[in-house]
Amino acid sequence: MIATRIDVWPNFATVTLRAAAFMLLALALTITSQPALAVGWDCTQREKHALDPTRPLNIGQLKFQLRDYYYCGGYEADFAAVGDEAKKYLELRAHQVTNPAIVLDIDETSLSNWVEIDRDDFGFIPGGTCAALEPGKPANACGDYEWEISAQATALRPTLAVYQSAKANGVAVFFITGRREGPELRAATERNLEAQGYIVWNKLIMRPVDSHGSPSTFKTAEREAIAKKFTIILNMGDQQSDLDDGKFAEKAFKLPNPFYFIP
Ligand SMILES: [Mg+2]
Repeated sequence: MIATRIDVWPNFATVTLRAAAFMLLALALTITSQPALAVGWDCTQREKHALDPTRPLNIGQLKFQLRDYYYCGGYEADFAAVGDEAKKYLELRAHQVTNPAIVLDIDETSLSNWVEIDRDDFGFIPGGTCAALEPGKPANACGDYEWEISAQATALRPTLAVYQSAKANGVAVFFITGRREGPELRAATERNLEAQGYIVWNKLIMRPVDSHGSPSTFKTAEREAIAKKFTIILNMGDQQSDLDDGKFAEKAFKLPNPFYFIP
């Protein structure tokens, strides 16, 4: 059952204004949404972070590897490879099916929370303030809720390109996110998406507060509801639980995310 409101296209004047804003943002984001390279991160040291298979895993060493992966080009390349395939598939199928649609996850699919992830040293801290939002403050933790409310996550460019292609090809866009339904977080999530270039969508589906267990159950049920009216040509997510083996979508595109795991 779809429990959230349906976002419909606003009036013509608003659409025109939004279209202009969309083009400007798309241009700006092409320039600015490059993955941030860490100031001072030394990619020549990567071989020193290699694991010794004869010894137990070392979490500190793994963190070095994850930052190598993010800052030294691996994440960007792997993410782009999946995004490019998804875009090609969208453009192949968009005009071959009835009522085409795509489903996008949000976190680490459409938007990057790297600032929070890095600040929390790969830990998950649900509550508390987020010092990353206060420049000059020492490296305190960043509470997840405050981070999300700040609406400062940044567009992941390959997914933004898929979104832009969907809009250009008349394909409906649905976001299904594990972020919990609530007026404050919904408003912040919408603000964040819009600021990063995801200007219009058919529906933003957030996880109900009373939904428990794996998000896979909720997400799959929402795709099933969408599939009653649309042909979901692709579903993109960074967790297997976003995709559920591609049920109710023609194709599932799994983006890399070695930074956290949602079963
Ligand atoms: Mg995600």
